[in-house]
Amino acid sequence: MAASQMLAVDRSACAGHGMCYGTAPDLIDCDDQGDPILPERRLSDDETAAAHDAVAACPERALSLVEATASAS
Ligand code: SF4
Repeated sequence: MAASQMLAVDRSACAGHGMCYGTAPDLIDCDDQGDPILPERRLSDDETAAAHDAVAACPERALSLVEATASAS
């Protein structure tokens, strides 16, 4: 079984143009500045598949999947 994963964003690399939340709108929201709002929890298998698509869609390579920490619910 694969380890649970979470989404993470490098805010210094993010250009805020929205390819991620345009690709996975059910998973990633955006604030009024156009910056992504990520779910701060472990992703389900279906969410992880959508997250992979969002990571691939980010032209700045600012978005990544990371192993969930023990404290993440
Ligand atoms: S696609 Fe990448 S650069 Fe664009 S808003 Fe999302 S994380 Fe930021």
